[in-house]
Amino acid sequence: MGILQVQNVNKSFGGLKALNNVNLDIEEGAVHAIIGPNGAGKSTLLNCFVGRLRPDTGTVKFQGRSLLGLSPHQINQAGVARVFQTPEIFTDLSLLENVTIPALAVRDGAFRINAWSRVDAQADARAQAEAMLESVGLADKRNQHAGNLSRGDKRRLELAMCLVQDPKLVLLDEPTAGMSRADTNATIDLLARMTEEHGVTKIIIEHDMHVVFSLARRVTVMAQGTPIVEGTPEEIRGDSRVQEAYLGG
Ligand code: ADP
Ligand code: MG
Repeated sequence: MGILQVQNVNKSFGGLKALNNVNLDIEEGAVHAIIGPNGAGKSTLLNCFVGRLRPDTGTVKFQGRSLLGLSPHQINQAGVARVFQTPEIFTDLSLLENVTIPALAVRDGAFRINAWSRVDAQADARAQAEAMLESVGLADKRNQHAGNLSRGDKRRLELAMCLVQDPKLVLLDEPTAGMSRADTNATIDLLARMTEEHGVTKIIIEHDMHVVFSLARRVTVMAQGTPIVEGTPEEIRGDSRVQEAYLGG
């Protein structure tokens, strides 16, 4: 049984069927890419995983527990973290503050016990944020304002904010969109290293085949709201249905 199980999910926007009977099973520890032409329903599907959208029908289960009806915050607390298509960071705060906030948020429970555990939690969260900035290569910039970072560094920061929560499942929506080749390659290296160090399950939505083939061991191809092919990168590379979907899309 996979860590994330999606069964018969449908989602329409007015007359438009954005998701058409989606079934998907993501193995624990996998790096699983979801690819497909623009408008295939990839972001809509991700939004159904994190509680931003509710499917019209079907089920989404994380570690055997239904996510439907849970708020984005509850899903986050259950161990699902996401990196958005455009970075969502606190531009007026320092890098260290940016990473300390989510580190503290996952310690939510400790807050309510007493004032001393709160002080401990804050010190812990800060130490963890420092370590995470170190491991994404941003330690020397930790006191700078996040708003002044380059696009590539904002991505690294966002990844640090995500991973500091120690999630079980990370959802990445086009993590290298709009990046230079150099930043893309740096992000690939970082994601590959994070996979080894943390062993966390990842779902990556990606346009850039270079990224997909560098990172994913399993690929699902979506077209017009439905997964049409699933396999290893090598298997899908030569599949005529995949080429057709892109040409027709
Ligand atoms: P992808 O991420 O694969 O490019 P999306 O999931 O963003 O595709 O979109 C799938 C389809 O659903 C598209 O036709 C898009 O225009 C439509 N869509 C997505 N979100 C909405 C929305 N909130 N309201 C109406 N239509 C939407
Ligand atoms: Mg999208």
